[in-house]
Amino acid sequence: MCEECYSEDSRATPLRGARACLEGHTQYICGSCGRCICIEREERRGLQRWNFPFQTLEQAKLYLRAADHTRQRACGIYQIEGPGGRTFYKIFPGREELAAFLRKNPGKRCPQGAPLFSAGRYREFPGTQVRRLRPQEVEAYLAQR
Ligand SMILES: [Zn+2]
Ligand SMILES: [Zn+2]
Repeated sequence: MCEECYSEDSRATPLRGARACLEGHTQYICGSCGRCICIEREERRGLQRWNFPFQTLEQAKLYLRAADHTRQRACGIYQIEGPGGRTFYKIFPGREELAAFLRKNPGKRCPQGAPLFSAGRYREFPGTQVRRLRPQEVEAYLAQR
């Protein structure tokens, strides 16, 4: 596992619409393995990819570093249970944000009440870059997948 971005696969992301994401969105470029993690902030609500629910813990883990870097703290991945027992995973900076989410969404619960995964402590890494990719970098990255 990459010690900076928590991924086993240094080209695992983007999960969907890879070319459009790499060409059009600001990326967190892992200084340790080179993986690109979408860190684009949507204009209307200011949300980033890591703010949205994930179907699996592994997928959430692929975006956790973008959350850590944005908030400058070790965020956590929480398992959320919706109506009918449907589960998904969400990243929150801390338990206060989890509690606020649960208050706003009375049909959902977090059975564990604690993160399933977190780096535990926020660290900076020397090679990290946050920027748009150049066209030739997009091509090289896609070719390496
Ligand atoms: Zn993107
Ligand atoms: Zn990495």
